[in-house]
Amino acid sequence: MAYCYLIETAGALFLVDGGMAGTGRKILNRIARIGRKPEDLVFTVITHAHADHFGGLAEVQEASGCDILCHPSHAQTVRTGGAIVSPGLNAYGKIYERIARFTLPSFKLPKLKRVRALEDGAELHDLGLDGHILFTPGHSTGDVTLVLDEGAAFVGDLVQGRRIPRITPPEFSIMAVDEPAMFASWRVLLGSGAKVLYPGHGKIMKIEEILPVFLRAAARKARIARRLVAAPAPSHG
Ligand SMILES: [Zn+2]
Repeated sequence: MAYCYLIETAGALFLVDGGMAGTGRKILNRIARIGRKPEDLVFTVITHAHADHFGGLAEVQEASGCDILCHPSHAQTVRTGGAIVSPGLNAYGKIYERIARFTLPSFKLPKLKRVRALEDGAELHDLGLDGHILFTPGHSTGDVTLVLDEGAAFVGDLVQGRRIPRITPPEFSIMAVDEPAMFASWRVLLGSGAKVLYPGHGKIMKIEEILPVFLRAAARKARIARRLVAAPAPSHG
């Protein structure tokens, strides 16, 4: 349903997102399979507080004692096990939105502890990870992207990866609270030094793959703006 990413360094582990409820066991199994202990997990970054990105973190936090890092506007949601949904932008997105609104009340979402609100641009080196945080809102009010110095970027739902390899292109998220903000966040991402994007859904992709999608969207915006400028002003009186 949604990807979580475990980042392993010589001394520690770091997690990006926690999947749907029930994913925690899988994450702990993976940690065991690579020969590490849950206590090696220093922190989990939640890219945004949608249920499919933090639902599995109660078990992970219980076993590891890890800190939870997220956007300040989503800190309360993950502390209280709240459920938030973004509006769908197209037919698919609207279907997802309806399913989410219908099913969310029946989910038991975790109430996480040790939740720390991030700052835009926050450096993570002091916490043992060579990377930083960017605020990349639009899909929701509280999206963050984790960019590692080596060029990996964990983008949550800011970018939707290819759904069918080599056929469908990457795309803007099909759900958003603020489309212009999402567009601005893509611009931030393109200028961030990110080389490879790890999305919450769809395939991992190179940054070059989203550039044509961004340029097409920019051209469309420019065309709309030109049309507005060219349109005759409404007559008064
Ligand atoms: Zn989402």
